[in-house]
Parts: sequence; structure tokens; C-alpha cells
Amino acid sequence: MAELTCIRCGQTREGLARPPYNDDLGREILEKVCASCWEECKRMQVMVINENRLDLSDLRAQEILERSIRDFLGIGAD
Ligand SMILES: [Zn+2]
Repeated sequence: MAELTCIRCGQTREGLARPPYNDDLGREILEKVCASCWEECKRMQVMVINENRLDLSDLRAQEILERSIRDFLGIGAD
């Protein structure tokens, strides 16, 4: 597991073992976010899903969640 300088906390820490998603966002998270910030991000996602009652089979809900992940981690959209 490689160390990286995390885009969110600014510290050099262990990253993830594998990308959390099979898309561009997953690859960016693997390259830029430490494992501990990713754990925080997952807790944030649960809150966002519950607060907005997101149904993740719905494309719009997936977009809302992705935007909140990018905001939380400080990864800009393309
Ligand atoms: Zn971090």
C-alpha cells in the first residue's frame, strides 16, 4: 500500500489498497486521498444518503452523491 500526500488532510499517509469505484472518481480517490480521510468520507456519504433519502439506483441520486464526495474531499469535477 503506497503512501501519498492526501489532498484533504495534507498529510503523507497510507492510501487505499484499491480504487473504491471503477470510474474516474475512484481512480482519483486512489491517487489523492488517504485511507483515513476515505473512512470519514464513507461516513459522510451515509449521512448524505439518509438526509436526502437518495435511491442510488437513480442516476440523479448518484450524481448528487458524487458531487458531495468531490466537495468533501476537495477533488474538483472535470
Ligand atoms: Zn487524508
